[in-house]
Amino acid sequence: RMCAATVVEVLAAVRRAVEDNAEELGSIDAVAADGDHGRGMVKGATAAQEAAAVALDAGAGALSVLAEAGEAWATRAGGTSGALWGAGLRAFAECLGDDRRPGTADLVAGVEGFAAAIRRLGNAEIGDKTMVDALVPLAREFAAEASWRKAARAARAAADSTAELTPRTGRARPLAERSLGTPDAGAVSLALIAEAVAEVLE
Ligand code: ADP
Ligand code: MG
Ligand code: MG
Repeated sequence: RMCAATVVEVLAAVRRAVEDNAEELGSIDAVAADGDHGRGMVKGATAAQEAAAVALDAGAGALSVLAEAGEAWATRAGGTSGALWGAGLRAFAECLGDDRRPGTADLVAGVEGFAAAIRRLGNAEIGDKTMVDALVPLAREFAAEASWRKAARAARAAADSTAELTPRTGRARPLAERSLGTPDAGAVSLALIAEAVAEVLE
C-alpha cells in the first residue's frame, strides 16, 4: 500500500500549507469577497487528510483513499472552493488504482481529470479571475513535463498575474474593481498547494 500512504503524506503537506497561509488567503479573499477562503481551505484540507488517514488504516488503496479525501473536502469545507476541490480530487482518484502504483501517465491523467472536473462544475472561463487561471497552466505544464516543480512554478506565475484581472464570476463580482491589484484567492491557494505537493513528491 505504498502509494496510498503517499497520498496521505501529500494531503498532510497540503493541510500544513493551507494552515500556514490561512490568514493571508482570508485577507486576499476579503479584498473583494467574503474573506473566508483561508478558513474554508483549512476545513477542507483537514477533513480530507483525516478521512484519507482513516481509509489508509482500514486498508484502502490509493484510489479509495483519495476518493474519500475528496468526498470529505466537499462535504466539510463549505463554499465554492470546497465543492470544486472535492470534485477535482474525486476525479483525480479515478485515474489511480487501488492495487497498483500509479505511473506518470496515471498522474498526468489525474491532473487533467482534476482540472476538467473543476472547469465543468464551476463553468468559469480563462480570465474570469478564478483558480481556473492558475489551473490551466498548471495542467498544461504537468502534461508537457510531468514535473510537479515546473507545474507549481507555472501555477504561481499565473496566480500572481490574476492581480491584473477583474472578476467576472463568483462572489467577488459585485466589487470587481476593488480587486484590481490583488490576485485571486483560489488561484493563490492552488499555487501554494502545488508547491507543497512538489516538495513531497520531487
Ligand atoms: P466562496 O466564494 O463560496 O466564499 P471561497 O472563498 O472558499 O468560497 O473560494 C473562492 C474562490 O473560489 C475564488 O477565489 C475562485 O478562485 C474560486 N471560484 C469561485 N467561483 C468559481 C468558479 N465558478 N469556477 C472556478 N473557481 C471559482
Ligand atoms: Mg470566500
Ligand atoms: Mg464564502
